[in-house]
Amino acid sequence: MPRGGMTGLSSALKAACESSGVTFRLGTPVRRIVIENDRAAGVELASGVVITAPVVASNADPRTTCLELVGAAHLDTGFVRRVRNIRSNGIAARVDFALDDLAGIAGSGKANLASRMLFAPDMDYIERAFNDSKYGRVSAEPLVELVIPTLLDGSRWQRTRHHATALVQYAPRRLAGDADHAREALLKRTTDIVERMVPGFSSRITASRVLLPADVERELGNAGGHWHHAEVALDQFFMLRPIPNLARYRLPVDGVWLCGAGTHPGGGITGLPGRNAARRILAE
Ligand SMILES: Cc1cc2nc3c(=O)[nH]c(=O)nc-3n(C[C@H](O)[C@H](O)[C@H](O)COP(=O)(O)OP(=O)(O)OC[C@H]3O[C@@H](n4cnc5c(N)ncnc54)[C@H](O)[C@@H]3O)c2cc1C
Repeated sequence: MPRGGMTGLSSALKAACESSGVTFRLGTPVRRIVIENDRAAGVELASGVVITAPVVASNADPRTTCLELVGAAHLDTGFVRRVRNIRSNGIAARVDFALDDLAGIAGSGKANLASRMLFAPDMDYIERAFNDSKYGRVSAEPLVELVIPTLLDGSRWQRTRHHATALVQYAPRRLAGDADHAREALLKRTTDIVERMVPGFSSRITASRVLLPADVERELGNAGGHWHHAEVALDQFFMLRPIPNLARYRLPVDGVWLCGAGTHPGGGITGLPGRNAARRILAE
């Protein structure tokens, strides 16, 4: 865990880019990529302002980039069909907890709490958890991977308030029932499981929130709400990510590139899709 958490990493990267002359416009949605004479001419912001540029690199997900930002009118029908078939429905939820002081939590020493705690007893358990998602339900008995980031940085032991975050599987994008009910059920099941791993945990919770794939889709704009922009499966990986025609980062419109998690080698905080895309763009 980087010092200062993921916010610290983002701030450090931003400062490094700015020192090389990069300008950031945060909270500024792009409405479309402007195409003129079959090649990139810039981007149009939601405000209507147009920024001209001969090269546009998008780390919005591949479906959004191709179908919304570029638009099917600029792409051939076979390509559009393949992009529409990219599987990008999310299957994981994030449950965050705000916690009071953790001192005196029964049964878990400092070392345990500061490690990654996983609840997935065996393969049958994982398969049963997945089965629920096939029918549009959040798992009755989910897999839970818990981290308390505020304990991972040694300097933070003096804190009296903490934040715990759990990766919870499975939570399908398309729910058979009501999303509020699914959030409530998943929060209760997750809290019960964490309580089993860390007795006393639930008595320290002061606030919580559940992010379902639909919430990720709404907040980040990822079509389908998949954390990594496209399912990480063998037929959408390596030289097939997200589809063979896009595996070299280049769209079939000159000057438009993908540079995000939907491209090789996929998601996570590696920076590698961006680095690979930048090298390809510079090589051209
Ligand atoms: C809740 C959650 C928890 C996660 N936890 C982990 C984890 O524990 N470990 C791990 O390795 N990975 C985790 N991930 C996955 C990881 O965050 C992603 O794989 C990674 O951030 C992808 O990086 P990216 O830059 O390609 O895309 P993103 O980080 O998704 O960035 C894409 C950006 O494009 C912006 N955007 C989209 N459309 C537009 C538009 N039209 N105009 C302007 N901007 C736009 C979005 O707002 C977003 O900021 C998690 C993801 C989520 C959502």
